[in-house]
Amino acid sequence: MNMILAKNIGFCSGVKRIIHLVETMSKGKKKVYYWGALIHNSVELARLNDIGIKEFDGNVKSGENAIVVTRAHGTSKEEVEMLRKKVKVLDGTCPKVIKIHQMVDKAIKEGYRVIVYGNERHAEMKALRKDYENEVKIISDVNSIEGLTMSDDEKLLLISQTTMMKEDFEKIAFALKNKFKNLKVYNTICEETLARQKEAIDIAKSVDVVLVIGGKNSSNTNTLVKIAKEYNTRVFHVEDEKALFPGMFINANTVGVLSGTSTPIYLVKRIIEKCKS
Ligand code: SF4
Repeated sequence: MNMILAKNIGFCSGVKRIIHLVETMSKGKKKVYYWGALIHNSVELARLNDIGIKEFDGNVKSGENAIVVTRAHGTSKEEVEMLRKKVKVLDGTCPKVIKIHQMVDKAIKEGYRVIVYGNERHAEMKALRKDYENEVKIISDVNSIEGLTMSDDEKLLLISQTTMMKEDFEKIAFALKNKFKNLKVYNTICEETLARQKEAIDIAKSVDVVLVIGGKNSSNTNTLVKIAKEYNTRVFHVEDEKALFPGMFINANTVGVLSGTSTPIYLVKRIIEKCKS
């Protein structure tokens, strides 16, 4: 069985950065915690837990020199302020997500209302909604456009959560342009997730089976699964090697392997080894 690995695999730059940050700090004198799901991968979070880097439960133990790192996909200002009252906080937000917040800030100051294509339950969207409330409207698909109540002459900006599907963003942009005449569109899907989406198409078209490795709670992994399924009928989303089962690769000569941006490379290697054995 021939296994074809995506070129863009393992952590993205934002996840590499935050993992490096917490690991480096934990080697010093501080007790390092993270706030919320630092990244969307339970295997990597379990590894961090094993080396003493744990999720912050809101309480600083007496005498502890603690620091809390906020998650890669953003934390609302209110949450950061709440944390700062208790403990030292280090902003772990990916620079690409920070840029989006800056863009939204600027647009609102210039009188725009912002429409964001995203998933309301995702940390990135929760932080945006909390920070900008009524100025930002999150839509999850093209059908949600019906419910938008902005007037035709309002200045509007359409952007996207960093991990969404390009094709869907373009459909939404097209539909919105037909509805609102003052719409500005800026595609803020992260280029690292876009590269993975493109590879997912190429690989899914050319193999018998596709394995997508990543958390079930990982938005960009779920996007890869959705894309791969458009081009291949045998797509499996696996979180770890325990999800592999006999019969997965029956009659398969080629297996394509993709991963989400918060999937550690050691997990990818473990799964490949297991597939081969
Ligand atoms: S997917 Fe992109 S935006 Fe998200 S953490 Fe990685 S580099 Fe940053």
